[in-house]
Amino acid sequence: MLYDAAVIGAGPAGITAALYLVRSGVSTVLVENSAAGGQILSTAEIENYPGFPKGVKGWELADLFEAHLAAYPVDRKRGSVVRSDAPAPGKAAVLYFEDGTQLQAKTIVACSGAHHRELGAPGERSLAGKGVSYCAVCDGNFYRGRDVAVVGGGNSALEEALYLARIVRKVWLIHRRDAFRGAMIYQQKVRSAENIETLTSSVVDGINGGNAVESVTVRSLSDGITREIPVDGVFLYVGMEPASAWLPSSVSLDSAGFVLTDAEMCTNVPGIFAAGDIRAKHCRQVSSAVGDGATAAAAALSYLEQWNA
Ligand code: NAP
Repeated sequence: MLYDAAVIGAGPAGITAALYLVRSGVSTVLVENSAAGGQILSTAEIENYPGFPKGVKGWELADLFEAHLAAYPVDRKRGSVVRSDAPAPGKAAVLYFEDGTQLQAKTIVACSGAHHRELGAPGERSLAGKGVSYCAVCDGNFYRGRDVAVVGGGNSALEEALYLARIVRKVWLIHRRDAFRGAMIYQQKVRSAENIETLTSSVVDGINGGNAVESVTVRSLSDGITREIPVDGVFLYVGMEPASAWLPSSVSLDSAGFVLTDAEMCTNVPGIFAAGDIRAKHCRQVSSAVGDGATAAAAALSYLEQWNA
């Protein structure tokens, strides 16, 4: 099947790009490897997306995005793209999927986002799903009334520590620096939460347990003292890694693998655009992903006009 546009990834950026493309009359396929919504599906409450003065639950916003998309004739394809070649004027790109299927598109909008980075601590992999989690919204309820650790110092760690604090008995918030990098509003809320204890300038040397997490080994970088803290769950929020490996090697990435674009979301390869968290950029928000998606669609439409001329 040959499409005008293939949008890879159905988070806020991809859904917006697909909406703008299909509303402009180009044949569009939206490729998703799980339910539409992306990272917002694992976000409890979104408080900074305009139009929702009381906040909106991540899954509710994903449902609204999905309902909006359903009003238009966007083709949907489930699956993971493992490889793609580059399009060129007059030549469509071929996208290859994990299951051996393929599709062709005149232009590609890469919105495949980013996923949680591993901490790399001993015990992390062997206890994954047995107390080690990367999603408080998905797993927090298992720890109702119990003690957990959250590792990280960015917005995700602070936000999810606050979410967990409403469910669990105690949250140990462990961060390697002496100051958090997350937004001041979350830092203030963390400080005033009675059941969050912060351990700054501290690193996790191990996650311990047999069939389930029993404790974390934490080392203070100030005095070198190591202590074992009993916890039932460990939630890791130490940043994101881009899902960019499937793109053609000719697409320029930064040293961490995020896609370099200009302000119009154009990559260095004509016909390939990128939007949302897959991009090298500072601000990673639902609202900025939506803006990226609209901008990328506009740039892809200009490219298609030249293609079809
Ligand atoms: P992030 O902002 O990159 O923060 C990652 C945190 O993990 C940093 O504090 C970092 O420490 C720490 N870290 C990294 N590697 C580590 C390691 N090996 N050991 C221990 N700690 C480590 O990532 P994020 O919090 O996942 O957020 C990703 C993006 O989404 C950000 O741009 C964020 O603003 C955005 N976001 C926004 C919201 C919101 O506005 N509501 C919510 C969630 C996420 P250092 O500080 O020492 O580097």
